[in-house]
Amino acid sequence: MDRKRSFRSWNDRRSHWRFPDSCYLIVRRPAPVDQNQLFALALGLTEPWYVASLDFSAEDKRLEIGIDFRRGGTFPCPECGGGGCKAYDTEQREWRHLNFFQHQTILRARVPRIDCTRCGVRPVNVPWSRPGSGFTLLFEALVLAMAAHMPVRAIARLVGEHDTRLWRIIHHYVDTARGQRDDSGVRNVGIDDKSVRRGHDYVTVFADLDERKVLFVADGRKGEAIEQFRWDLIEHGGDPDQIAEICVDMSAAYIAGVENSFPRAAITFDRFHVMKLLSEAIEKTRREEQKSAPDLKGHRFALLKNPENMRDDELEFASALLSRRSSMKTAKAFHLRLSFQDFYAQPARAAERFLRSWCSWASRSRVPEIVRVSRTLRKHAAGVLRWFTSRITNGLLEAINSLIQSAKARARGFRTTANLKAIIYLIAGKLDLQSTH
Ligand SMILES: [Zn+2]
Repeated sequence: MDRKRSFRSWNDRRSHWRFPDSCYLIVRRPAPVDQNQLFALALGLTEPWYVASLDFSAEDKRLEIGIDFRRGGTFPCPECGGGGCKAYDTEQREWRHLNFFQHQTILRARVPRIDCTRCGVRPVNVPWSRPGSGFTLLFEALVLAMAAHMPVRAIARLVGEHDTRLWRIIHHYVDTARGQRDDSGVRNVGIDDKSVRRGHDYVTVFADLDERKVLFVADGRKGEAIEQFRWDLIEHGGDPDQIAEICVDMSAAYIAGVENSFPRAAITFDRFHVMKLLSEAIEKTRREEQKSAPDLKGHRFALLKNPENMRDDELEFASALLSRRSSMKTAKAFHLRLSFQDFYAQPARAAERFLRSWCSWASRSRVPEIVRVSRTLRKHAAGVLRWFTSRITNGLLEAINSLIQSAKARARGFRTTANLKAIIYLIAGKLDLQSTH
């Protein structure tokens, strides 16, 4: 029985630790410390619970903490909260706790069942764990904290647990925290979809643009996703009629979806998407034109930048290109994009006139891709101009996007979108995880 040493035998007056460079550290303890008491304090145990035994096995890298309750101890009823209930019988249980250094730590206790006069026979709640969990609260808190920063699979390896058990913890806390959320104050919403896997499978993210947090992640995209969000909002105390502003991209399916599910909301077309339409138009034009003008090759990124962000050589290229705008489509497109850049700097009263004159200029440019953009902007002018009233953008969702990219990497290998959604809520949902035991 050598390999199992009790902690008590370590409790001599002096302890020596040998360090690699052969120096010794001698620690004088002020008084003998009861190790059991120390662990009881560290675990936050209160009467009638106490630490009854500590079994340490260096070989198995395992520490077992035996917890018991004092004879005659009483417990509150887990159902009605009525106090003073005595143990009726007990059941042996164990929980995984935080590692004690490199040693896996297990809590063992006999958990009493009480016989409440009102509720009948019930197992009591133990203070170190939530009902039904095989982990202590501290262990679960550690898993949640790590899951916001590293792949769950890596955490599983680190703590030596199967990842499905860890996902269960994450889902429990995320679901409970989301269940308690109050959406009655939501007014301005941003909507954006992300592909989960290449080509198919989308999720759509709905964010509260004032609170800067993710409210809901729907399976699928466009109208069907918007309707799911409407129900989720109602479920959390929100009122669809109170949603004043919604920021989306210019797709017809989104417009129809918002009009169906949130008929009172005004639509603002996200300015990042508006600028993206122009960037894409330039790139398509350049790619087409470089067949006849090979000097356009290799300048893709220069044309997507604003002059203030260009390197010297890019600036040189751009100004040379602008001087050829009477003959080259790419130059015309670039020129039109640069002048559109001033649109969002206009005072609100001048914005409509600016947009109208820019669109008529663009429609006469004879650059097919730019003509198409001008047609789109004209058709959706109300939503484009709405920005001057609502001032909302989906910049937040762009920022969240990079978090989601890494969450995708983190959830990869688990195949379920439910896991990905849980991680998105965990990192971007500003959930209150404190009140969820
Ligand atoms: Zn009761």
